[in-house]
Amino acid sequence: NPKTDLNVFENYESEVRSYSRSFPTIFDKAKGYQLWDKNGNEYIDFFAGAGALNYGHNDDAMQQKLTEYIQRDGLLHSLDMATNPRAEFLQQFNEVILKPRDMDYKIMFPGPTGTNTVESALKIARKVTNREKVVTFTNAFHGMTIGALSVTGNAFKRHGAGIPLPYSMVMPFDDYMDHFDSLTYLEKMIDDDGSGVDLPAAVILETVQGEGGINAASFEWLKRVEELCRRRDILLIVDDVQAGCGRTGTFFSFEQAGISPDVICLSKSISGSGLPMAITLIKPEYDIWGPGEHNGTFRGNNLAFVTASEALNHWKTNEFSDSILNKSELFKKRLNQFVEEYPELQGKVQGRGLMLGISSEKEGLSGQLAQAAFERGLIIETSGPDDEVLKILPPLIIDEEGIEKGLDIIEESIKAVLG
Ligand code: PMP
Repeated sequence: NPKTDLNVFENYESEVRSYSRSFPTIFDKAKGYQLWDKNGNEYIDFFAGAGALNYGHNDDAMQQKLTEYIQRDGLLHSLDMATNPRAEFLQQFNEVILKPRDMDYKIMFPGPTGTNTVESALKIARKVTNREKVVTFTNAFHGMTIGALSVTGNAFKRHGAGIPLPYSMVMPFDDYMDHFDSLTYLEKMIDDDGSGVDLPAAVILETVQGEGGINAASFEWLKRVEELCRRRDILLIVDDVQAGCGRTGTFFSFEQAGISPDVICLSKSISGSGLPMAITLIKPEYDIWGPGEHNGTFRGNNLAFVTASEALNHWKTNEFSDSILNKSELFKKRLNQFVEEYPELQGKVQGRGLMLGISSEKEGLSGQLAQAAFERGLIIETSGPDDEVLKILPPLIIDEEGIEKGLDIIEESIKAVLG
């Protein structure tokens, strides 16, 4: 395979397992939806930094703003002291995202990663309700610290912590079992004093499970979860770390279902540039922490604020979200063709917006396809409990040419792998 630079393994011997093994080359440059390695090979990006690069690599406007800010000796690190980039982000987020949607939330900076926003959401819910348990769902993924991991429904990952904390209750996600009404089950467990289940502090969910296999909950199911939460004073936490920032077509993934969470977790693409940033949105009445009750050294990265404000410009017109839905249709059309034309895939297309996947019942096939695609110049990952889903997560700014080229590579890979 001419594109694989095997020396990379020598240099990386001291590193624990990482993506350098799945994508064994040294990447050198990236722009928009493309990357280049040090040998000049070109790659199309259907991975987008696991959802951290919705606006692509090195967006011109973000790059310019960053350069200006650094050259004028703007503060890089300032804990959570007031700075202009921080103020500008707060103002932009209110003006561009919250106000037009009539959403009343306070914004908190919980720490730099997705896991940090989840931790803060769990802590708030437990403090507000003075209850301990949190309902989570089969195949959920919420992060790698012990709290977030304890509400992650994946045994392999949970056991990475040795003993997961006992405060989560894993319930069946929408469609987890055929012909099984998971919500009636959950309601019964919570409403019935004889069930042995304590009234939980919160329910945490992804509207489309990313790491869990691109499982999209129906809007009806999401609405029923919300109703249950309202009826029993349980906080509804939507983890929009991967599905948010436009990934499913609207800025928040849950907007389409018309639900109104108590706490919203955003990270990955909130900075727009790939710089680490996370925010937690909380209904104002839950702003109960005193100063210092939740702090962290890297809570306010000014470079991330600079690019985050710029990223929000994409949301000033409806054109951007319409374009995501149009691109989604292009993808779905061809992915469905693949499934029909190659029945040996035993495949099914799933997902919403530009968070799509082909799940295959054939063991190991999705991983082989991802590998074959990399060798042909496409960066793509798998997800799901058995890595059974080829996960399609391109930058939202990808154009038609990039979409078709990437899909051509997937088709070539299918042909090569199926022989
Ligand atoms: N929640 C969801 C839904 C995620 O997809 C992820 C990351 N894949 C996280 C939380 C954790 O984010 P991070 O890796 O930035 O800590």
